[in-house]
Amino acid sequence: MFLAIALRLRRSPFPKGECSNRTVRAKVHAMTLMDRARLASTKETETVASKERLDKELVRRGVANGRIVIPCNPIHAPEPCGIGEGLSVKVNVNLGTSKDHVSLEEELEKARIALRYGADAVMDLSTGGDIDAIRRAVLKEVNVPVGTVPIYQTGLRMARESAVVDMDEDDIFNGIELHAKDGVDFMTVHCGITKESVSWLRRSDRLTDVVSRGGAFLVAWILHNDRENPLYQSFDYLLEMARRYDFTLSLGDGLRPGCIHDATDAAQLQELFTLGTLVKRAREKGVQSMVEGPGHVPMHQIEANVRIEKSACDGAPFYVLGPLVTDIAPGYDHITAAIGGAIAAYHGADFLCYVTPSEHLSLPTPEDVKEGLIASKIAAHAADLAKGRGQRQDDAMAMARRDLDWERMFALAIDPEKARAYRSRGHNEDLDGCSMCGDVCAIKIVKEYLKKE
Ligand code: SF4
Repeated sequence: MFLAIALRLRRSPFPKGECSNRTVRAKVHAMTLMDRARLASTKETETVASKERLDKELVRRGVANGRIVIPCNPIHAPEPCGIGEGLSVKVNVNLGTSKDHVSLEEELEKARIALRYGADAVMDLSTGGDIDAIRRAVLKEVNVPVGTVPIYQTGLRMARESAVVDMDEDDIFNGIELHAKDGVDFMTVHCGITKESVSWLRRSDRLTDVVSRGGAFLVAWILHNDRENPLYQSFDYLLEMARRYDFTLSLGDGLRPGCIHDATDAAQLQELFTLGTLVKRAREKGVQSMVEGPGHVPMHQIEANVRIEKSACDGAPFYVLGPLVTDIAPGYDHITAAIGGAIAAYHGADFLCYVTPSEHLSLPTPEDVKEGLIASKIAAHAADLAKGRGQRQDDAMAMARRDLDWERMFALAIDPEKARAYRSRGHNEDLDGCSMCGDVCAIKIVKEYLKKE
């Protein structure tokens, strides 16, 4: 037994087999984007500055000090998208199959919908079918940054062979390198779940202990093996791999609260403080990182959650799932999440992970993807507006409404098809206005008598 342990400890953390493909490694830049931004403006920082109408030095500095990330694995090389301090709020769309529902064509349709309605990034969370083929097809389909959670695939494979807790370090790191080699731009890695955070979890009075899949795998692994989380223990090795492929770490919140009762408790905050130390180590190695956040949080705690993250993680971009502001609205969680997302983004969250109406209930359909994305886009835009960005579109809509210019209104609408469909309901050709007020259209009456130039 001791021999087996010794051999295992001596085993190189570098994966063997297909992940050590030297041809692919040769394509990878010797310097990361963060390294390059520390020296001078880069193509990526300049593109982001131009899209955001910001000074290019401001974006370069943000990437250099880690307060802005531009997830961009050179193998995929998406259109650069900046996330972080001083930039507009971005929105991510999750796609992916499940064991019970596998359709590559449907996932690609979701990806196309995500692009059509303005998703800034897409995550493939597939857990069913040929996961490698689906990820590669999504990477090929979209030109926005693509994220994944590699431990899903590793854990599921192991669960089908024996048990999740039988994964070893090589399995975990091989899974990450496989995704990196395919060109994945950012990856959720649950590095902050440690023996200590599990002990906080044990002592907590949580109602829904762990709701993150990756988090659940690692909590179970730590408890079963009585060992430290390899993603925490061998974080330097993870950084080496992130440098090699220049992917961005999305430091996962495996202990995010899964209900209002559990929000902002010690287990959640202890994990967040650990992530803050890992952000510092990533920056020292020139690796971009952002921090994931809750989850389910009541409205009055959202500002504090953002402020704590910004303080504990030295301004690292904050990527929040929702947060959902109540637990009682299954079927409407795109709304509960958009309310929380707007508040979080107003207080400084940088990146919103959309939530669909099917959250907690089923795998989303393409229509659910559209509904969830639009709800998150509204939240992001409302926060941008409150911070002084993007009002030109609102002003243009106001003018189109004043002029009863319906085509212009549709063109400016976040969802033109829905706006057009609602307008046509009960429409009377004799009305300039709409069927809401009929022939007593306030806009028309006041225009006639006020006679403003
Ligand atoms: S009818 Fe009423 S709701 Fe419709 S455009 Fe005129 S004022 Fe607006």
